[in-house]
Amino acid sequence: MEAKHAQVLVVSPHPDDAEYGVAGTVVRWVRQRREVVYVVCTNGDKGTSDVSVKPEDLAKTREKEQIAAANLLGVREVLFLRLPDQGLEDTSEFRKEIVRLIRRYRPETVVTANPYRRYVWHRDHRITGQVTLDAIFPYARDFLSYPDLMREGLQPHKVKEVLLWGTEDLKYRSDITETFQVKLAALRCHKSQVGHIPPEELENRLRERHRLIAKGEEFQLAEGFHREEILR
Ligand SMILES: [Zn+2]
Repeated sequence: MEAKHAQVLVVSPHPDDAEYGVAGTVVRWVRQRREVVYVVCTNGDKGTSDVSVKPEDLAKTREKEQIAAANLLGVREVLFLRLPDQGLEDTSEFRKEIVRLIRRYRPETVVTANPYRRYVWHRDHRITGQVTLDAIFPYARDFLSYPDLMREGLQPHKVKEVLLWGTEDLKYRSDITETFQVKLAALRCHKSQVGHIPPEELENRLRERHRLIAKGEEFQLAEGFHREEILR
């Protein structure tokens, strides 16, 4: 398996989480010619309150919506792991898959859900964040971690920084004033998730949220993260 370098890897629990968490920043990166690859861990087949929809149809719809959103943002590639929605576990297979992708794409930056958010937090988000952090350090870094990945031609890789969305202690505010409208349009691609919200209400809710995150900064709208530089 050959390496396919991308500067940013976004590991999302479900289709749509990356749009809420980081899409405005993704557009900025793409405009700066940083290549972005999405990994969507679960098939999202539980995320509905519509009792008439079949889970397998919902999973297909959500993949299509995710691809449409990613195309709009300029994401280079979207990979679907199709693990069970609400059934994600912290297993060595899942961790190894993320290690494989980190070694394959060799990103400087990895973005994922904050696993340490307190109290009410989707279990899939917690597990995706934790497994991704473990995969970054030490598993992707150490060549003895997965000798079989070495045999596949996947060399160890050191990620430089991790950004975690869904954080309670914001350490890094990313200016999305110029890219907010693209983020909003990408979010609207997820019709099965946001289609029931009147368009104006969705925009107002989102704008208010990003305005609050930007409070105290010179810019109007921001996405917020915990940022961790990896020095080891
Ligand atoms: Zn989610």
